[in-house]
Amino acid sequence: MARILLLFLVVALGIIAARRILGTFREGANPDPGPAYRPHARSRGRSGSRQPPPPSAQAQVSRSMLSALRDALSGGPLDPDAELFRCADCQSFYSVASVRALALDNGARCINCGSMHRIGVEVVD
Ligand SMILES: [Zn+2]
Repeated sequence: MARILLLFLVVALGIIAARRILGTFREGANPDPGPAYRPHARSRGRSGSRQPPPPSAQAQVSRSMLSALRDALSGGPLDPDAELFRCADCQSFYSVASVRALALDNGARCINCGSMHRIGVEVVD
């Protein structure tokens, strides 16, 4: 039993020593890594400064084109007989359920461009 404990202790110390050696090796290889990468939040000023579309604005989309498109949030197919919406800025399509989910979880902003503006979709044949 004492041998197993000793072996465990040796292995643990070896791992700690190896990490320290690797850590100093990495620091020594690149002493000045420069400024760290910081991802920027998406600019929302661009879409926010745009004029909202008029309330009567509607996008006309053919049924065949709609069959090739997907809901931008869920990734599911778009039902041409259901109420659909399109982002006024980036043309992403949404079902009513996705628009509700965006309103609850994303401040009603488009998942792709952050725009607040959506227009209804009129399906034409
Ligand atoms: Zn958009």
